[in-house]
Amino acid sequence: MANQESTIRSIHDFASQNPNITCLTSSSPQFNQLRSIYAHPEIIPLAIIRPSTVKDVQTVVSFLATKRIEFTIRSGGHDMHGRSMRQETVALDMRLINNVTVNPHSSEAAGSETSTATATATIGGGILTGDLISTLHSHGYATPVGSVPAVGYVGWAMYGGYGAYSAQFGLGVDQIVGARIVNARGEIVEADQDLLKGIRGAGGAFGVVVELTVRVYKIQKILAGMIMFESTDLSTAIPQYNSAYAALAAAEEGLPLALSVHQGILNAPTPTFTVLFVWSSSNLDVGYKWLEKIKTLSPCIASTVQETTPRGCLEDADRHFAKTTHGRMWTISMKQITEEVARVIAQYTAKMPDDPHILFDMHQLRACSPSARPNNDSVFSAREPHFEFEINTIVEDQGKLQVALAWGEDFREALRRTSAENIMPVQYLSFMREEEVDHSRIFGEHLPFLQELKRNLDPDNVFNAAISYL
Ligand SMILES: Cc1cc2nc3c(=O)[nH]c(=O)nc-3n(C[C@H](O)[C@H](O)[C@H](O)COP(=O)(O)OP(=O)(O)OC[C@H]3O[C@@H](n4cnc5c(N)ncnc54)[C@H](O)[C@@H]3O)c2cc1C
Repeated sequence: MANQESTIRSIHDFASQNPNITCLTSSSPQFNQLRSIYAHPEIIPLAIIRPSTVKDVQTVVSFLATKRIEFTIRSGGHDMHGRSMRQETVALDMRLINNVTVNPHSSEAAGSETSTATATATIGGGILTGDLISTLHSHGYATPVGSVPAVGYVGWAMYGGYGAYSAQFGLGVDQIVGARIVNARGEIVEADQDLLKGIRGAGGAFGVVVELTVRVYKIQKILAGMIMFESTDLSTAIPQYNSAYAALAAAEEGLPLALSVHQGILNAPTPTFTVLFVWSSSNLDVGYKWLEKIKTLSPCIASTVQETTPRGCLEDADRHFAKTTHGRMWTISMKQITEEVARVIAQYTAKMPDDPHILFDMHQLRACSPSARPNNDSVFSAREPHFEFEINTIVEDQGKLQVALAWGEDFREALRRTSAENIMPVQYLSFMREEEVDHSRIFGEHLPFLQELKRNLDPDNVFNAAISYL
């Protein structure tokens, strides 16, 4: 591998031969602002290269691969373990590739058996969630996304993509109907069925994803907002809400597809039990009835739920999240929130350390979702209905980090000690550290296929920073 000084020299030469591609080193005025990532602001890359076209990406990857210069790929910078930037390593910053084209009459989506989509959108590999939703909204469309606008859409979707709308339309990973990558030889490749299958779950292991085509849906008005429940006694509120929610789901009528409820416990400023409510059907009257039902599952003290749009919902959620922070995430996925699990959640969230960034939240993949069924066109394997728990041990005040980390680890261990049959064999890759990744569990029967795909497409492991660690 090239040493640092010669790498910097090569990058300066490259920059002078390619004046249209922005190359920044630590002395560049914009460097500090552009290097900032969500949970690891301490990481200082060697250089940041910012292509603005697919052709530029091709030029950059050919240069880096030929010179054997290691690099990471950065879009939204929201990987909790900081894997889009490495200390003293070149970062390929994709954020200038943020185009969106809506294809209103896509035959691909219309022919799909698993979705009611009528359209697709072709999007740049570096687009952020908020920008995507904003542009889609101006065309009358939306697509499933997570809760934070600054998260990169591609990084979110390729490894799973939990969020509101998943009961109705499926997870992010199942929206992907096409992809273009720049491979290790610097070639632009249109993904065939095998590569698409690999990208749907193992993400950037095979190249830089310069473009995705995803399903989009006619959604304009929605109901969304936060419901806050009485939280002086979480050991009552959390089990009470969850047993009533399970009963509602099991009732003959069941939960409607358009309903999404996302539980969280936030320091506001003491641990407060909240539910992010989203109703995504145009029949808002029915949505209001479901809002009233959810509000009665445990004593409700306030609600901000109102008529809004997918864009408004994201903008609102953004106010609750830190822009940068310090710390890590612990994840565990459970089939159900049993009484035992609800008790552990209540016990640990009641003693949540008091930094405002710390929170516990969860996503749910409901049985009715198009993603909750075996899918041989994807290597994402958590297809059984489940809850994905996120213990965010992130802090504003670094002095509180050790206490927060110890609390998070104990919390996750306590959840691990609950009934083993209820714990999902597959955990969420996006939030796991390298040493926690057991490939045979994460990818299950797809692992030999993936390993062969990796050997064929990236034999020298140029894309070794991808979080699937193949
Ligand atoms: C505040 C916050 C909220 C979140 N909310 C949710 C949520 O609601 N649902 C959910 O499922 N997850 C959520 N996540 C997890 C998030 O979706 C993943 O960490 C995702 O990978 C972040 O993507 P990014 O582009 O922002 O991050 P980055 O750190 O830039 O990238 C993440 C990974 O993807 C790779 N990558 C990014 N773009 C490309 C590309 N174009 N080609 C190849 N590889 C690429 C990077 O190399 C890196 O390995 C959240 C994370 C945070 C910090």
